[in-house]
Amino acid sequence: MSHPADASEQPAVATAEPRLERANGVVYLVGAGPGDPGLITVRGRELLDACDAVVYDALANPTLLPRRDGVELHDAGKRGGDGRSAKQDDINALLVRLGQDGKRVVRLKGGDPFVFGRGSEEAQALSEAGVPFEVVPGITAGIAAPAYAGIPVTHRAVATSVTFVTGHEDPSKGETQTDWGALARTGASGGTLVLYMAVKRLPGIAAALVAGGLAPTTPAAAVEWGTHPRQRTVTATLATLADAMAAEEIGAPVITVIGRAVALRDEVSWFDRAAFRPLHGRRIVVTRAAAQAGSLSEKLRAAGAEVLELPATRVEPIAGPEGKPSAVDHAVQRLGNYTWAVFTSQNAVSLFWDAMRRARKDARALAGMKLCAVGPATADALLERGLAVDVVPDRFVAEGLLEALAARDDVAGAKVLYVTARGARDVLPRGLASLGAVTDVMEAYRSVPDGEGADAVRAALEADEIDAVTFTSASNVRAFVDAVGADASRRAPAVSIGPQTSIAVSEAGLSSGGEATEATLDALVAATVAACAGTPPRRRRAAVAE
Ligand code: SAH
Repeated sequence: MSHPADASEQPAVATAEPRLERANGVVYLVGAGPGDPGLITVRGRELLDACDAVVYDALANPTLLPRRDGVELHDAGKRGGDGRSAKQDDINALLVRLGQDGKRVVRLKGGDPFVFGRGSEEAQALSEAGVPFEVVPGITAGIAAPAYAGIPVTHRAVATSVTFVTGHEDPSKGETQTDWGALARTGASGGTLVLYMAVKRLPGIAAALVAGGLAPTTPAAAVEWGTHPRQRTVTATLATLADAMAAEEIGAPVITVIGRAVALRDEVSWFDRAAFRPLHGRRIVVTRAAAQAGSLSEKLRAAGAEVLELPATRVEPIAGPEGKPSAVDHAVQRLGNYTWAVFTSQNAVSLFWDAMRRARKDARALAGMKLCAVGPATADALLERGLAVDVVPDRFVAEGLLEALAARDDVAGAKVLYVTARGARDVLPRGLASLGAVTDVMEAYRSVPDGEGADAVRAALEADEIDAVTFTSASNVRAFVDAVGADASRRAPAVSIGPQTSIAVSEAGLSSGGEATEATLDALVAATVAACAGTPPRRRRAAVAE
């Protein structure tokens, strides 16, 4: 198939109007998927990466929007009361204008553009104006929200058809286009009914379906913010669902599913299943330095959490005076002087390795030296560079390392290179001295406060929307308090990676949410799960018009 973006391949387009001679753009009607940013198509993602303008909806996940310089972003999502149809005309006109200006435009719509999305009206307007367009289908909420709720919309033994219906029409009004009697018969014969936009009119719809012969005891579910970290699901029956939703304050966007397939949720739920994803529905703040936040955030997300990153500290390498080699550069030149090297963090390893590269050295330059890491993540960082460590302590703190070294007979008389952060405790060099070793302390970096992201986190704390804040070091605790302010910092429980960090937590007056049993990210995640257990998620109100 020819690609309309490439003008040389276009003459065959049937609607080739004179416009094509002026460098006309292309409007791509792209389905953003239901919310989880991983559920956009590869084609949609590529177009977002290469477009000049995006016109987006309220339901398209904002994290999908490109943040490149020079990309126009148009918010078409603000809907209001009776101005709706005029608004749609404005959107159509905007798309036509951007296309005529020669732009590559992504019209990003929640779910699929042609499923209750008015994408078809936009395509009609573009067609009429002679502006080339393409359609990129998306995963519609009507299948994705049930799937994330563990409700298969068809099942060989239970449901042989699925029908997508808009709940926007009022069954009690005469002019409805929807044949609720026919839908009731479909449901009664085992078909699944999936309703969009049916929060307000659900009582009337349920009554019409029951009047049409669908049993009031038919299983029914409402899935709010499907596929988003805040997804909630309420199950009941056709007769009781509206009340159950009101009791749980379920509000748009909601997909409503009616039919026997809903009962499969008991077996098939996964997204909000505590055994699989114990942090589902939780909002957790990660305060690690930006460079390291990724792995903790990933682990928390895998456990189901929505993560807000607050890079409370940033790693700043300590350079040499006026562009001259740094202390670490000097140490790399004198590796032959040392019999041991000790690394306190992944940052220390990575900055040491940068210095090795500058000196055009590789792992062989450390041949004959014994290596020691304060914890497993640091040991992994060494292993990635081809260096297996000789000593990792059982307790991942300086004291633990000293215990491990004290048990050996090759430390007395050793010359130790210690790569660490400025301002680190001097427990290790002093302890090594008492073991008869001489230590050169190489300060490779320091942690500096980083205010980025602080406003969003402060607002969420003030709104009581944060379930826990994780800390991996004492300096992160202090930087967090500086970044969000003392008041906001106390509004969520603090989960700490170890005893030193816990002391900083209590000194800062934060409420303790517990401590990891060992200083690893996995143990910190487990402590976060424990901190959240027993209290319901701090709930956020839905904020979208139906
Ligand atoms: N084109 C979209 C539907 C737009 S109509 C699609 O294909 O999904 C808007 C309605 O879609 C909402 O009122 C709600 O019923 C449903 N919807 C969209 N996203 C949703 C989500 N993440 N969770 C639940 N319902 C959603």
